[in-house]
Amino acid sequence: MNKTYFKLPYFLQFFVVNAFGLSIRFKRYNKAFAKALDEYIQLDRVENCKLNIDKIIEVTKDSKFYSINNEQDFFGSPILDKAAVKKYYDKIINHKYVYNYFHTSGTTGSGLKFPVSKDFLARQWAIFWKFRRIHNISTTTWCAYMIGKNILDPDRRNPPYWIKSYPTYQLLFSVSHLNKETIEQYLTKIKESKIYWMHGYPSTLTYIASLIKEAKLESLAKELNLKIITTSSETLYDFQKRNVEQIFGCCVRQLYGLTEGVANIFECEHGSLHIDESFSYVEFVREENSCEDYKIIGSTYLNKAFPLIRYDTGDTVKLFEENYKCPCGRKSRVVKEIIGREQDYLILFDGTKVGGSGFFFKKLVHVNRAQIYQRRKGEAIFFLVKAPGFTEEEEQLLVEEITNKLGKNFKYEIRYTNDLIKLKNGKTKFVINEIETGCNLSNNQFLSNNIKKEKQEPNSDITNGNVWKEGIQVLALFLFKYIIFFSIHLERFLNSSV
Ligand SMILES: [Zn+2]
Repeated sequence: MNKTYFKLPYFLQFFVVNAFGLSIRFKRYNKAFAKALDEYIQLDRVENCKLNIDKIIEVTKDSKFYSINNEQDFFGSPILDKAAVKKYYDKIINHKYVYNYFHTSGTTGSGLKFPVSKDFLARQWAIFWKFRRIHNISTTTWCAYMIGKNILDPDRRNPPYWIKSYPTYQLLFSVSHLNKETIEQYLTKIKESKIYWMHGYPSTLTYIASLIKEAKLESLAKELNLKIITTSSETLYDFQKRNVEQIFGCCVRQLYGLTEGVANIFECEHGSLHIDESFSYVEFVREENSCEDYKIIGSTYLNKAFPLIRYDTGDTVKLFEENYKCPCGRKSRVVKEIIGREQDYLILFDGTKVGGSGFFFKKLVHVNRAQIYQRRKGEAIFFLVKAPGFTEEEEQLLVEEITNKLGKNFKYEIRYTNDLIKLKNGKTKFVINEIETGCNLSNNQFLSNNIKKEKQEPNSDITNGNVWKEGIQVLALFLFKYIIFFSIHLERFLNSSV
């Protein structure tokens, strides 16, 4: 399909995108959506944080898998992880209510075909848009959309690198054409179009910010006069937020949502992360071996097609002390930090997964971009794109964070680079974990160049945390070179003396 689409002339691609946009407009923003949006806006400031057991009973009443009649039954039900959901898939699904299927990513590499009901879908879009409404964005606000969908042939070499979708009020940008040479055209297009809202993945927005710095276009970025930037789908880390806000001179606000619809967390006007209490029931369960990290366990109030009750999202948060109240006055619970999404973990030698990888860079002010690449258990490469002013003390802070979080046995390398690994779809993921995701990057150009370079310069920028071991390696190398040198000269000496 993509190949045929890419071969079309631009005006036909424009037509296809707008026809698709029209169908989205009709399907997504229907009456049920409008009603639910109004309802969520009303509830926003008066939410009740307690479990609504009536909604749980209603959503599970036709289920072959659950038998929940009261709060005791609910809290007595086991917590379901992804493996359990896969195992009991045929029992949890209720075909009577299935309207559509969505794909979710799985830790084992095989995703899940996730069934949704019609009502659930309308309400999920409504809760996403409630977040936008509180930041003065409506469904008719134009958006510079930086989500990595392939809308143009990746081999295209001339602008335009964007398509305007009138029905959805989006200026869709091609992320795969973003580079130092094209960034100015992207910014100019946004400026000319008088668009004041940008939306994208944190990794893409951080990339854009670093390109702007590289091309020295900071003043043009400020001239866009953006009012707000929103993010979704990935954890927004402090260093990313800081960089993007500094470049564009406006707030970056994040939304945490899941295809499974068991938890929704939004950033308010004061920058606090609030739970959408009326959308689903969220529990926080303390992680083993940690006194401050909590798992997000969520239960749907809405999806009768595939009701997930006490579902372990695999994501973790840090919490405030009890009774913390945000200055915005909302009654909903507040999360201190979303420390990681399931996909952002590293694996230790013994198989333990450690999430919240963005925290390694938390104290580093002069970092434009970062990425962690793990190929084997117990070791990883940390790629860093430095900003001017980066100091050795900052590297030391990173080393301390790595050792504190992953232990002294974890092998690591810190590599300074000008670019990061891009996946086949042009996306730059913050953590690339080859072990369980099954993505094979053996042919990746960036990676093979980097590894080759490293082999040629065995002493450059390698920090494995074990000074003695490294010292012995250097000494052995020195002795080896010395012996070779000595042998050659000895042979010459002997030859000459014969
Ligand atoms: Zn608030």
